[in-house]
Parts: sequence; structure tokens; C-alpha cells
Amino acid sequence: MLPRAISSRQPSARLAQALAPDLAARKRLNLYRQAVVLDSPQGVEPLIDGCRYLSFCSNDYLGLANDPRVVEALQRAAADYGVGSGASHLVTGHARPHYALEEELADFTGRERTLLFSTGYMANLAIATTLAGRSDTVYQDRQNHASLLDAAVLSRSRLRRYAHADSQALSDLLSSQRSGRKLVLTDGVFSMDGDIAPLARLADVAATHAAWLMVDDAHGIGVLGATGRGTLEHCGLTPGQVPILMGTLGKAFGTAGAFVAGSAVLIETLIQRARSYTYTTAMPPALAAATSASLRIARDEPWRRHHLSALVARFRQGAATLGIALAPSNTPIQPLILGAADAAVAAADALRGRGIFVTPIRPPTVPTGSARLRITFSSAHEERHVDRLLDALSEVLACR
Ligand SMILES: *Cc1c(COP(=O)(O)O)cnc(C)c1O
Repeated sequence: MLPRAISSRQPSARLAQALAPDLAARKRLNLYRQAVVLDSPQGVEPLIDGCRYLSFCSNDYLGLANDPRVVEALQRAAADYGVGSGASHLVTGHARPHYALEEELADFTGRERTLLFSTGYMANLAIATTLAGRSDTVYQDRQNHASLLDAAVLSRSRLRRYAHADSQALSDLLSSQRSGRKLVLTDGVFSMDGDIAPLARLADVAATHAAWLMVDDAHGIGVLGATGRGTLEHCGLTPGQVPILMGTLGKAFGTAGAFVAGSAVLIETLIQRARSYTYTTAMPPALAAATSASLRIARDEPWRRHHLSALVARFRQGAATLGIALAPSNTPIQPLILGAADAAVAAADALRGRGIFVTPIRPPTVPTGSARLRITFSSAHEERHVDRLLDALSEVLACR
């Protein structure tokens, strides 16, 4: 038996005493976060903490996370390759399905090569830390994803943030840099606002100042563009204008992991230098095989993207009719900004009482005073789901 009573002078008690006030403060400020537990696959009607909800908060934009063909590809590859990769890519963790997926993603993105990572977070760490160092400067949109900001910090380079989507502000900052490399990082689709970065203008500015532009297309790849190639396709940009592209696999493709796409020299440099590539276990090969299956579906079933954009249009039209003010976004991310954290939590609770699940997003994920309901759509939603959400929102917002 382990002794249960802990004296207040033991290290574990001291640790708890040091940490507890921050937790209490977060609770008081309505900033405390807790995971809910799903007892079903991801989908538009998941079973959450024992109850069935209509959900509008996953990033499974194309409804592929539980597609039987993707599940079967995973199972088949697990039978052939087992579960764990057992090593990092450069030791013995790189299996045939990884190799095949990298080739398919290169073909999909129209780039010479791609490189797989276990998460988008790690892919972003790899890009910033490999391409920028102490004497260099990383430029970022103020609303960039947290992983890009963390990556810049880890790179030890100078970090300069420009006003959201403001290419002139970026240009002004770039003009003042005297020496070192210039790396510009931006979300393609901003994860909390759903708006699209002004990539054509950013690419022009980057070219003028001899800076390297990198786009994190976590929310654009598979979703935007005539053929689902993402934000670059949507904006009509070529690989030449945006030399570094990052895409994630856990959102539209419904699996997990990420990739960087670019020239052979860029990819070879990441392989040789990126610590978040070298010093981590390769993703399971079966996951790569499952992603190959979902990539094929995303490519071959354009109805998913068409249906998704029709749902977004229906929602925006309905909200306008009801007088609900939405942020200017035409992507599947539709934030409803409510201001105070309390207001977002209360609205989410009220929706939950009506069987609808939408997570409130609070600071520090979004700036103070812009807490919101982040509503996301999936091609697995139906028109009647959108209508049910609109009905519930009009009730919930009317009695605020
Ligand atoms: C989700 C996300 C990431 C991180 O990707 P993971 O694979 O979930 O680690 C990076 N950038 C953006 C913009 C994201 O939305």
C-alpha cells in the first residue's frame, strides 16, 4: 500500500499549491477548458458524454473521418504493416505506404516533393526552425495559428507580427530589415475567423522584398479551389510564388498528420535538418495508407466540396434573414462573435440544451473581447441540419 496522506511539506503538495491558483482563476474567468468524451466516431451526429447531438464543431470538412473506405484501408494496411512504425523515418520507420502517400501528395499539390510529419504542429516547427535562425526574421499575421507562433519562438529568430491580412503593414516591416533571411508565414484560411489570407498581395510583397512565403493550409487543402487543391488554387497562385506549402491530414482528409510540399531542395533540407522530423517516431504506416484512400476520395468526389459550399451559402443567407451578424467568411468556418467569454459559454450551453453542439472559443485562442461560437460545416451535414441550427440560434440569441 502506498501512503495516502501527503504532508503539505512534501514536493508533490508544494507543486499542487503552486499550480492551483491559476486553475482557480481560469474557472472564475470562465476560461476553464474540459474535453468532452465521444462514444462514437467523429461525425455530424456524435454521441457525446452519452447524448446524441447535432454537431457543428469538427474540422472533418469532407466527412471522411469515418468513411468506410478509409477505415478499410487502415485495417488492411494494419494487417500488412502492423500498428506502430517502430522507429523514426530515418531509422527504419519509413514504410512503403509513407513513400506512396508522399508521392501522391506531391502530385496533388503540383510540387516536386512532399514530406510527412506526425502533426501539423510539428511540420510548422520544422519549417521555421530549419529556414530561420538567430540572424533571421520571421513575419507573421497576427491571427496565425499558435503552432506558427511557437515555431518562430523555437527558431530563435526575430519575430515580427503584422496586422491581420494587411499586406501593406507586412511590406513596411520588411522594408526595415537590413540583414538576414526573411520568412513570411501565414494561415491560408484563418482557423478561428474563416477568412482567406490575401495571398496574391502577400506573394507580391514577399517577391519584392526577397522574402520566402510559406502558407499553412490546414483549413484550405481539400476544401477550397475548383479541384480542392486549397487556398493557393482558390487564389490562383503557382508553386513559384509560394515556395513552401504546409497541409494537415487531420482536417479535410479525416485522418491525422501533416505534410510539407515544395522543391526537392527544400524537402531534402528538411530531411537533413528538421529536428521535429528526425527525433520522433514516424506516423503509423496504416495511417498513411488510410490517407491515400481519403486523398483519392477527396479528389474523385467533388460533390463533397460543392455540397459543403452550398451549406455555407444556405447558412449565411438564413442568418442574414434572421438578422444574425456573421463574420465575413465564405469558408466552412463561420464564427459568430459574441464578445465576452461568458456570453459565448452561455450561448453554447443554451444550444446544447437544444441538442446542438458548438464549442465556444475563448481567449487566449482568440483575442480578448472576441469570444465566439466557431461554427463549422461538413459535407456530411444536410440542409435540414443547417435549418435546425438557424432555428436554435434565433431562439438562443433572441433571449440574450
Ligand atoms: C490544426 C492546425 C494546425 C496543427 O495541425 P495538427 O495536425 O492538428 O497538429 C496547424 N495550423 C493550423 C492553421 C491549424 O488549424
